[in-house]
Amino acid sequence: MLRRLNMNPVASLVRRQLSTPPAPVSPFPYHPGSLLSVLDLSVPEVSELLIRATELENEDAILRDHTLAKRRIALLFYESSTRTRTSFELACKALGADTTLVSSLSSSIEKGESLKDTGLTLRALGAEAIILRHNSSGAAWLLEEATRLPVVNAGDGMHEHPTQALLDLRTLLAHLRPGVGEVGPETLAGITVSIVGDILHSRVARSNMLLLPRLGARVVLCGPRELLPEQAARSGPGLEIERDFDAALRQSQGVMMLRIQAERLAGLQLDLDEYKASYQLTGQRLAAYAPAAVVLHPGPIIRGMEITAGVADGPQSAILEQVTNGLAIRMAVMERALLKSEEGGRA
Ligand code: ASP
Repeated sequence: MLRRLNMNPVASLVRRQLSTPPAPVSPFPYHPGSLLSVLDLSVPEVSELLIRATELENEDAILRDHTLAKRRIALLFYESSTRTRTSFELACKALGADTTLVSSLSSSIEKGESLKDTGLTLRALGAEAIILRHNSSGAAWLLEEATRLPVVNAGDGMHEHPTQALLDLRTLLAHLRPGVGEVGPETLAGITVSIVGDILHSRVARSNMLLLPRLGARVVLCGPRELLPEQAARSGPGLEIERDFDAALRQSQGVMMLRIQAERLAGLQLDLDEYKASYQLTGQRLAAYAPAAVVLHPGPIIRGMEITAGVADGPQSAILEQVTNGLAIRMAVMERALLKSEEGGRA
C-alpha cells in the first residue's frame, strides 16, 4: 500500500528562494552579539567560537558559573523543541545566567500578542538577550530590529539554524580532523559531506550548506526532486547535487541525514515507500558504500523512515555526540551574545 505525505503548495515559492538566499529583513545584525545566520560569522569568528566552546566545556563548573552570573536571558519558542531548547537553557545556566522560557502555548502569544510586543515585554522585564525559535523564516531579524537586543536564532522556519551548523561542524571536526584547534578556509579541504533528504524545508541543511564550504568542504545534496530542487546547488559555492544516494555515499566522509519536515508539508505528494527505497540510510547501504563515514542527524530521528534503528544506534553514528556538542557550542554563542552586549550594539 502506498503511504503518501502531503506537501506544501508554497513549495514552488520556496524553491525560488533556494536559488537566491533570502534578503535579511535588516541589512546586518543590529547587535554585534546577535547570531541570526551563519553568514554573520567570519571564518576566524567561527574558529574563535569553536575554541571557546572547548575552553568552556573544560572549565571548572564553579568558575564557569561566574561567566554570565545573574544575566537575564529569555528563550522564546514558537515551535516545539527538545534538543535545542534544553541545550540552550542548560548552556545559559552553566554560565550562571538566569533564564526564562516563553513558549507559544501557555503565554499571551496564544491570545494573539505579536512577536514584536512579546519581545518588547521581555526586554522591559530585563532580558539582555533573546533566543528565538519561530516557524516563520526571517522572524529573528524582525525581533532584533524591534528590540535591539542580541538575538540568537534557534531556527526560523525553513531558513537557518546557525548553532546547529556550528555543533555539526564541531562533530565533523572531531571525527575527520581530530586534534584540530583553530580552523580556516582549508581545514575541511578534501572532505565531502552529503546532506540527504528533505533539503527544501530544512533550516539545518541551509545553515550547513552556507557554512561547510567556507571551511573547504565539498557539500553534496541528495534527495528527490520534490524535496531538493535543482536551484539548491546555486545557494552558494561548493554545492553539488547527486540524486543517487549510493553514489553520494561512495564519495562521502560525512553523511547528514534529515527528517522529512511533515509539519511544513501540505499539498504535494510523496510516496514514502519509494522514498525509503531510494533514500533511507540502512546498515547494508552504509557498509557497502561508506563504511568509514561519520553519520549525523540533527534530530528528531524518525527510526525506520530516513534512517534505520541499526544505523542510528550503530558505531558510525555521531547523533548523540551532536547533542552533547550543542551544549558547548551554545555556551560559547551565549557568552558572545552577552559579552558583545557590553561592547554595545550598533544604533
Ligand atoms: N531539529 C531540527 C530543526 O529544528 C531538525 C528537525 O526538526 O528535523 O530544524
